[in-house]
Amino acid sequence: MVTGTKLPHGTARFYRLRGTRIPKSAKPVASAGIPATEHTGRRGLCDTSNGPMSARIIDGKAVAQQIESEVSSAIATLGFRPGLVAVRVGNDPASEIYVRNKAKKARELGLEGTELVFPETMSEAELLAEVARLNHDDGIDGILVQLPLPKHIDSRKVIDAISPAKDVDGFHPISVGMLHLGRSTLAPCTPAGVIRLIEWTGEAIDGKHAVVIGRSDIVGKPMASLLLARNATVTICHSKTRDLAAVARQADILVAAIGRPILVTADFVKPGAIVIDVGMNRVGSEFAAQIAHDSDKARLLEKNGSVLLGDVDYARVRDLASWITPVPGGVGPMTIAMLMKNTVTAAERRRA
Ligand code: NAP
Repeated sequence: MVTGTKLPHGTARFYRLRGTRIPKSAKPVASAGIPATEHTGRRGLCDTSNGPMSARIIDGKAVAQQIESEVSSAIATLGFRPGLVAVRVGNDPASEIYVRNKAKKARELGLEGTELVFPETMSEAELLAEVARLNHDDGIDGILVQLPLPKHIDSRKVIDAISPAKDVDGFHPISVGMLHLGRSTLAPCTPAGVIRLIEWTGEAIDGKHAVVIGRSDIVGKPMASLLLARNATVTICHSKTRDLAAVARQADILVAAIGRPILVTADFVKPGAIVIDVGMNRVGSEFAAQIAHDSDKARLLEKNGSVLLGDVDYARVRDLASWITPVPGGVGPMTIAMLMKNTVTAAERRRA
């Protein structure tokens, strides 16, 4: 039952933000995202600021631009604008930024990006009804519901209600099962983005030992499935793993998806490993002592009062790894780019 005001479509409590139309003939982003190899003769940017043996940096912004360019090209070929709807319930400030950025990026690339915002008081039944409506809307190819949802709404019920064909986040149990079976599906965006970053280095995944630290449903587990599908030997670690550093040190490819600032130190890294840092941790002055060795981060903390850290101690690990993602500018830009890619894939499949 709806308490208070009703939530009919298109009322004051229901905001629909649409961008300007982009012609079907829209061209892909011109030459954006060309990997450094095309400028410098080799992939990646060799960071020599800390000695000649530093890892090459995996430039997430450049790879994300490459994907965005692919998305724009695919849309031009499709001849129509795939529709992506981002649903937000309530006023969580972080969700507000994420959802707005997703819808904005969609419109920039030539998708029909729509942001649906509902009040905190929306009931679970109302949200389920809205998802059902979107499932049946033929103009919508991708639906994402921004998490977390208010406490009175069961997120699992809502995710389960999204049509798997439109599940561009890849969180539906059918999508998860297909991924686990190694079958074609819409894979979760962050781990799918990590695969693209590793592929961009030109290094093989096949036969490598990949260690994934973190077993969340949105990053760690799908990351492991995607690496396994590419014939890596995969170890998954978590908070109960014994001697984590020793296990991590076995990795040819080390993926940190933990949510613990600079937990992965030099002790965790085999020389020559590819190190992917998924973590995004904003810390304040309480971290000043721990990052004193990292002049860049220490300066940012001093200047801004807070700084974004990954799960990897970048300043120390970059001297050991062969390739490394920075934070920010590594995995972060990939997530939205892969969401756009998934939406185009969903549009192609629904009309195939
Ligand atoms: P999560 O759901 O909190 O999962 C964290 C995982 O790390 C859990 O499996 C946990 O183990 C494990 N863990 C926690 N402390 C540990 C420790 N001391 N040693 C070993 N394992 C430990 O987090 P998430 O959603 O996967 O996100 C992980 C990080 O990635 C966060 O910083 C998040 O902000 C970031 N992230 C970034 C993007 C992006 O676009 N760049 C996207 C998603 C997430 P248990 O299972 O045993 O508790």
